[in-house]
Amino acid sequence: MLPPTADVVIIGGGVMGVSTAYHLARRGCRRVVLLEKHPFLGAEATGKCAGGIRYQFSTEINIRLSQLSLPMLERFEAETGQAIDLRWPGYLFLLDNAADLAIFRRNVALQNRLGVPSVILAADDVRARVPLLRLDDIVGAAWHAGDGLADPNGVVQGYAAAARCLDAAIFTGVTVTGITVRAGRIRGVQTSAGDIAAAAVVNAAGPWAGQVAALAGVELPITPLRRQIVVTAPLPGVPDDFPFVIDFSRSLYFHREGRGILTGQSNPHETPGFDQSVDHAWTERHLEQAMWRFPLLERAGLLRQWAGLYEVTPDAHPVIDGLTDPAGFYIVAGFSGHGFMHGPAAGLLMAELILDGAAHSLDVHQLRLSRFAEGDLVREHNVV
Ligand SMILES: Cc1cc2nc3c(=O)[nH]c(=O)nc-3n(C[C@H](O)[C@H](O)[C@H](O)COP(=O)(O)OP(=O)(O)OC[C@H]3O[C@@H](n4cnc5c(N)ncnc54)[C@H](O)[C@@H]3O)c2cc1C
Repeated sequence: MLPPTADVVIIGGGVMGVSTAYHLARRGCRRVVLLEKHPFLGAEATGKCAGGIRYQFSTEINIRLSQLSLPMLERFEAETGQAIDLRWPGYLFLLDNAADLAIFRRNVALQNRLGVPSVILAADDVRARVPLLRLDDIVGAAWHAGDGLADPNGVVQGYAAAARCLDAAIFTGVTVTGITVRAGRIRGVQTSAGDIAAAAVVNAAGPWAGQVAALAGVELPITPLRRQIVVTAPLPGVPDDFPFVIDFSRSLYFHREGRGILTGQSNPHETPGFDQSVDHAWTERHLEQAMWRFPLLERAGLLRQWAGLYEVTPDAHPVIDGLTDPAGFYIVAGFSGHGFMHGPAAGLLMAELILDGAAHSLDVHQLRLSRFAEGDLVREHNVV
């Protein structure tokens, strides 16, 4: 049974929602209520993601989000008691043209300036590092040994369990259907299981965040975009230290998943929308290109495949903000396909915004909602 009142209601039980609930509860905020429409937490973008965590971004704010968030993942098991299968095989961005190589050189210089020891590898060094791949067309690569992988479901369950221990109330199977705003202030939410009065509501609805914002009369430009993943059966011959490889110009990626390979490719012609059925024609094209780049895959059995939704903003950066109109409406959404890794930091920053009136672990002014109306965008180039 839902409580009739709360201090903070969080809409969405993906990584953003549970991280926000945990960080609020840890700071002593007692009446935190999280509402998730599915029967399980983490069933949408978070549970469907590839689990990659990296420092290799092209903007200072994204690199700084990683510098705040990834060490939180390193401390995660000690802090919450939940294992998250953290591994650091490194990220290798394969580059097949001089223009991309020049851009990644600039990105690596920025990363180095901020303390991330990424490097540009010459084509011969790339061949030595990943001899299983076809690399005739590769002119270089960006490499950072300190990038890696973590288990998204572990992170969701760890934060949710820890938040519950600190008295946060988490409800699944409850859909938020309305948000009450009076005199420019948030007053509460209407749900499929009853109403809750609250002065603060957090929109952590991922790909649905635009729809949820509209319930409060707020325009939030987040586009849902289908993205697909295929996982192979065990594939002997792939070394344990095989990195997270991204064929950048093809938006094609691979990493080890169990004894097999997980591969994804973004369809550049995907139509925005909430369709999450697998597009088999795209799977065929994806696998053709995957086998061309990684010929060993010709011998692989297909274990499973799925589609999930990216939550894309016009500049591929999230919105982390507390609005003044309506006051009490907070947004932590729009991570544009690389948000799992920033979930720990985002929840911490949200708790600071709500409890202290400003985020102090990182200046998130650039991530305010009004940047879209002001035309003050900050564009991320390293989007897969
Ligand atoms: C195929 C794929 C691969 C990806 N790979 C990576 C990767 O390697 N690394 C990385 O960092 N990121 C990756 N991402 C992106 C990452 O998954 C997302 O950025 C992140 O999980 C977003 O988390 P979220 O909590 O905002 O959204 P979600 O996990 O989608 O959570 C939002 C929740 O809100 C709920 N909800 C919506 N509306 C309502 C409502 N009205 N009432 C109640 N509940 C509601 C939804 O059911 C959902 O559970 C990938 C995404 C996809 C799809």
